Amino acid sequence: MEAITTTGTFFDGISARPRSVTLRLTFRLDIVGEDVARDWSLLDLRAADAAAPLMRVNHAQGPESVEFADEAFAQALMARCPDLNRTEGGSGVTRLVLWSIAAGLSVLLTAIYGVPAASGLLAPLVPQAIEAQLGRSVDGQIVTLLDDPPLCNEAAGRAVLDRLTARLSEGMALPVAPQVSVRRHKIANALALPGGRVILLSDIIAKARNGDELAGILAHEFGHVAARDPMRSVITAGGTSFLLSLVLGDLTGSTVLVTVGQAAISAGYSRDAERAADAYAVAAVKRAGGDGAALAAILERITDADDEKPDGISFLRSHPFTAERAARIRSLAGEKPTGSGILSEAEWKSLQGLCPEPAKPEKAKPEKTRPNDGKSPTPTEKL
Ligand SMILES: [Zn+2]
Repeated sequence: MEAITTTGTFFDGISARPRSVTLRLTFRLDIVGEDVARDWSLLDLRAADAAAPLMRVNHAQGPESVEFADEAFAQALMARCPDLNRTEGGSGVTRLVLWSIAAGLSVLLTAIYGVPAASGLLAPLVPQAIEAQLGRSVDGQIVTLLDDPPLCNEAAGRAVLDRLTARLSEGMALPVAPQVSVRRHKIANALALPGGRVILLSDIIAKARNGDELAGILAHEFGHVAARDPMRSVITAGGTSFLLSLVLGDLTGSTVLVTVGQAAISAGYSRDAERAADAYAVAAVKRAGGDGAALAAILERITDADDEKPDGISFLRSHPFTAERAARIRSLAGEKPTGSGILSEAEWKSLQGLCPEPAKPEKAKPEKTRPNDGKSPTPTEKL
């Protein structure tokens, strides 16, 4: 994703004084002026009412806002900010009406063509704001289904992950800037959710032998984001009743969502979708200076390890892997690049430290007296 700049006006929301600023949009919005320097997360931007071509954007936490009149910049901002239209507002109403019509039509399409075909047609029509809301809900569902694994946010590793995310999305066609979260979990998996959310479970970092392998996995998920596969699979999983709940706006309370969360974990994408995500991954990793074939290596390793794990949330359930896929990845990747890889040795070390072993204090001792519940002992975690 390239940086886009424009000029605009900054308001601190307290004094009435407008200040001329330069706006720079990347994975964040930088606002720089004579005595202004802001670096806003795209998740905090909210569109406010303004007469076109003027666009006004408020910060979600506080009174500050910026204005500009640059159509291309506005388009880019809308494409990159999942929550831009999250709050109520004049333009939101029109959007909702249009979406209701589309969703109504979709129920009809579903009746005629069946859910899988209709979901392919509909996924691109879901407005970004609704998809973002859905992504938040599905994220919550999945975290619950996985027994609330803790977030890994160790600062140095997080910084490397953010830079890697930016490099792997730069110049690639993504509907939104991906938001990657990492959670401590013993299963090697990565999941793309609606709204550009990607969840990495920490064991996949443990299974990766170098930065290129992890970049391959991450970019593969971005490939699903680019194709809007998560939205499609959620629509397919939810079926007609889910579409109706979208129209009615009742997303959080519906039982449908449990099904949807489960589907996002265990339902596989089609072979074509996997191929397309692989091709995206190879292109993105190569473009960022890494070895595109590393994806095949880590997938093969997970495949071997997964044979002994018949659990419902393995990577392979959601991304069926075959020798044919591996061969195709390697042929797309071509020659191994001569460089040292996508991450420096130090960066890779930081990334591996993103999920440090939790300190095990006094809790271990009283547990000794706990009767054996018959389950096999928990395997020790590797880092
Ligand atoms: Zn996949």
